[in-house]
Amino acid sequence: MKIICIGRNYGAHAKELGNEVPDKPVIFCKPDTALLKHNEPFYIPDFSKDIHHEIEVVVKIDKMGKSIAPQFAHKYYSEFTLGVDFTARDLQSELKSKGLPWELAKAFDHSAVVGDFLKIDGTDLNNYEFTLLKNNAVVQQGNTKDMLFNIDAIISFVSHYFTLKTGDLIFTGTPAGVGAVSIGDCLIGKSGHVEFFNFEVK
Ligand code: MG
Repeated sequence: MKIICIGRNYGAHAKELGNEVPDKPVIFCKPDTALLKHNEPFYIPDFSKDIHHEIEVVVKIDKMGKSIAPQFAHKYYSEFTLGVDFTARDLQSELKSKGLPWELAKAFDHSAVVGDFLKIDGTDLNNYEFTLLKNNAVVQQGNTKDMLFNIDAIISFVSHYFTLKTGDLIFTGTPAGVGAVSIGDCLIGKSGHVEFFNFEVK
């Protein structure tokens, strides 16, 4: 499986990092070794002094597809969750300033946290509010209606370049409010009363 991530998909977040609002989705990938599941603790790696949380809505692809038209994209996923796209912001800034790829800052082990998956059923993922709590204080709050590219548009775009396969995950971008994590922090991702993940930073 592969993990495809969208960067700068919320205008307010793009601006908080001093980036332009993109006119096409910004794409990067993480390997399967980036996955962290089942509320296992996240260990801060020794190569960064500034690991940031980015809460994101994550969808799981459940059918193989290539060059999927936006109007058919909804047929290719039926489950979603909340996750964290952990980012070594210090490394990313260094790589960005040199015009180098972001992988070292984005695709390291356990940088892709996923919570428990839920069936989409009637959930409107084009108007879905979600929250990240750090030590029980709200640090990020977003609504998918503020995405620059919605999930169906992302799937259509991405599948033009990468064949999507069953089990692939798409991280759909983070809203504003990203910030550093420290040893001992507890991160909880929730929407309304539904808690998707709850894990510790070590
Ligand atoms: Mg992200």
